Amino acid sequence: MLDRQCSKSTCQREAVATLTYVYADSMAVVGPLAPERSPHGFDLCADHADRLSAPQGWRVVRHQTLGTGR
Ligand SMILES: [Zn+2]
Repeated sequence: MLDRQCSKSTCQREAVATLTYVYADSMAVVGPLAPERSPHGFDLCADHADRLSAPQGWRVVRHQTLGTGR
């Protein structure tokens, strides 16, 4: 099933990244789209992955897999 959409409720775009919160380290990790849905992961489109901001006191960690060729 490749029909993955951004998990933002108002967004209909195709998901290209998966956001995972690592609570132990207060990190929001944005990486490539996970092969399967995780209960702790949020699928995001390129736009929302790019504009993601972490909650206060959290760090955003981005893997270098997004935005190539754009
Ligand atoms: Zn989106």
